[in-house]
This record gives sequence, C-alpha cells and structure tokens, in this order.
Amino acid sequence: MPISSTDKSFSSAAPGYWADQNISEADWNSHTWQLKNRVTTLEEIERHINLTDEEREGIILTGSKLAMAVTPHFFNLIDANDPNCPIRRQVIPRVEETQLSKEEMADPCGEDSHMPVPGLVHRYPDRVLFLVTDRCASYCRYCTRSRVVSGVGDQHLELQFEMAFRYIEEHPEIRDVLLSGGDPLLLSDAKLEKILTRLRSIKHVEFIRIGSRIPIFLPQRITPQLCEMLAKFHPLWISVHANHPKELTSEVKAGLERLANHGVPLGNQSVLLAGVNDSVEVQRALVHKLLMCRTRPYYLYQCDLIKGSAHLRASVEKGIEIIEGLRGHTTGYAVPQYVIDAPGGGGKVPMNPNYLLEHDNDHVLIRNFENKRFSYPEAKQSSPKVEC
Ligand SMILES: *Cc1c(COP(=O)(O)O)cnc(C)c1O
Ligand code: SF4
Repeated sequence: MPISSTDKSFSSAAPGYWADQNISEADWNSHTWQLKNRVTTLEEIERHINLTDEEREGIILTGSKLAMAVTPHFFNLIDANDPNCPIRRQVIPRVEETQLSKEEMADPCGEDSHMPVPGLVHRYPDRVLFLVTDRCASYCRYCTRSRVVSGVGDQHLELQFEMAFRYIEEHPEIRDVLLSGGDPLLLSDAKLEKILTRLRSIKHVEFIRIGSRIPIFLPQRITPQLCEMLAKFHPLWISVHANHPKELTSEVKAGLERLANHGVPLGNQSVLLAGVNDSVEVQRALVHKLLMCRTRPYYLYQCDLIKGSAHLRASVEKGIEIIEGLRGHTTGYAVPQYVIDAPGGGGKVPMNPNYLLEHDNDHVLIRNFENKRFSYPEAKQSSPKVEC
C-alpha cells in the first residue's frame, strides 16, 4: 500500500522487495550488508520496479555523470507502479538529466574557486566546509556536488587531510568546522575518530558539525558504538537530509533518537524538489515528523543550478508560499529557513515572505500570518553601545 504524502506514521522499510530472499534480521540490520547489496544496475531495478522509458533511458545515459546506487532500506520506499513516486524521483535517474540548459553549472555554488586547500571550502568568515570523502550510501540525482561524488564524473575530489588540518590550525578565525562530502558517516568509526580527534586538538575550533544523509539512507550505520564515539567530541551537531515524510521510517526514527540520546543536536536540511516536496501539505507532514524524531528543520534549499536538474527544480515563488504556509500556522521550531545558495559562490541568502509592509523613522507596518496589519512605533533614541 503506498503511503500518502501526509501520513505521519513511522513504518518499517523491511523487508519489502527482499521479502522472498530470506535475509536474516542480522544481515538486514547490518550496514555492511546494506552497502554490499545496494541496487546499482538496470536489471536489479527492473526486477522490482515498472520503469518508464524516461527512467530506463536515464539509467543507461547517466552512468558516466553520477553513479546510481540505492540502499535496500531506501529502495523499499519506492512505489513500484507510480512513476511520480517522490522517493523514485530522488534516486532513479531520468533522461531529463542529460538535457542541459545554459544557466546550469557543474559547480553551481562556486566551491572549487573558494578552496584554499583541496577539499576545504572557506567562504564564510568563521567557518569551513571540509569535504572528507566523495562517496555516499545512495546518490541523489540533484546533488550539488555531483561533479565530484560517486567517482564516475569528470572531476575527482582531491583529499589532502594534512593540508586541510594545517590550514585550520593556521586560521584562528575558524571556530566552526562542517564535515561533509560525500557522506562522512560512510567512513569507518576509526577514521572518523581520527579526524575528530585532530580537529578537537585545535583550540579555536569550538563547534563541529557533520552533514550526512546516512541516518536516512542507511540508518543501520547509526550503531551504539558510532554514537558513543561521536559523544566524545561535543559540542558536535549533525545535519541530516530528508526531503519527504515517507523517508522517516521507524528505523530512521530509532537512529535519530539514538544520536539525540547521545547528546547530538539534530537539524535537517531539505531541498525543495518539484514533484517530491513542493507543496505545503507535504512539507508540513515532513517537518512534523522531523520534530517527532527530535530533529529540527534547519534549511530548506532552493535546488542549485546543477546540470540536468531542471525537471527537479521548483519555483522560488513556491518555496516562499511553503514558508508562508508554515510560519505562524505551526510550531516555530518546525519552520526551516528557506535559502538560495547564490549561483557562482555568493553563499546562502535567506528567502522570506514579506511581513514588513512599510518602514520609516516613526513606525513599521507589519502583517501577521493571517494577513492582519499592525503598526509598531520605531524607537527614537539610539541605545548605548553594548559590550560583550
Ligand atoms: C552551508 C555552508 C556552510 C555552513 O553554513 P551555515 O549557515 O553556518 O549552516 C559553511 N560553508 C559553506 C561553504 C557552506 O556552503
Ligand atoms: S547524500 Fe548529499 S552528497 Fe551524497 S549524493 Fe546526496 S546530496 Fe549529494
């Protein structure tokens, strides 16, 4: 039975399409089994899913652009008979990926030009993005880093860990390090621990974050051992990436709860995707389920201008409409900040509905979520300078 987009139940993704294969519970729950048994070929997909011509052609044509791989856990969320299935649109290539338009780019956020050291992006004054691997558990067709992830594209991610650590050490203004990739949680516990230990040895690094879609694609990886290791490096936060309420299965919920129980604050970064989550209804169900998983919606990204992504990009107007439909109507913690990562390397720019109708020396005219108008007097005196 396909789950409706607004269904807020947490159901298990097992055993699904693997039901007739007698997979032991231990195997299914093992992340190494899940990785080894990822769906990567047209033949495997067609065994379970009734593909459209656009998908079949996409799978054949995109093989040298961004690899296809889907963990059995995530694959089980795909509706076999609905080509518009929101899970399917995220991970099964379509022929539209080969159609390029002139505004699209291989590196839409201009990361390559902001790398003082290969793999380290320093765009904001006090924080860096540290790319530690080029592999993921499954591949998102709209990935902003598809030029380097999965190992089949033209470009390769050069990893220079020692140079990156030295750069951070030599730049005391860096107080926040965000590990990303690829997916950092694909590294072994030992490798990850080495990276975190080195970062924690740098006095000015106050805050460490990991950006990972593994809690969603491969919740089996969130083992008690991993959580115990991560808990040694607090304050350590994790940003996960879920786009549709269906992705929040009972296994995902358990993994997120385990991280939260080990003191890891959780945020979610989702991408606004046409036919996946471009409605207030789907977004509301997603953010409510996230809160039930102790994960606070952090960013909603406008889809970057990555090559071959036109069929997945929703309008900015739609994004603003979604925020307007959430703000005030539901829990403030449930409302993400909608942003556009400015093309070419301008960084994240917040996009908000306009609640400020007039602003002069005497007053501001504002409207609330019900479109009622209010006037608030502008303060007359400048306040004394505050020292921190
Ligand atoms: C998104 C991003 C960050 C982190 O930004 P926050 O707004 O602090 O979450 C840091 N560096 C780069 C290059 C980024 O793209
Ligand atoms: S998990 Fe992240 S890095 Fe990996 S393919 Fe998806 S969007 Fe790209």
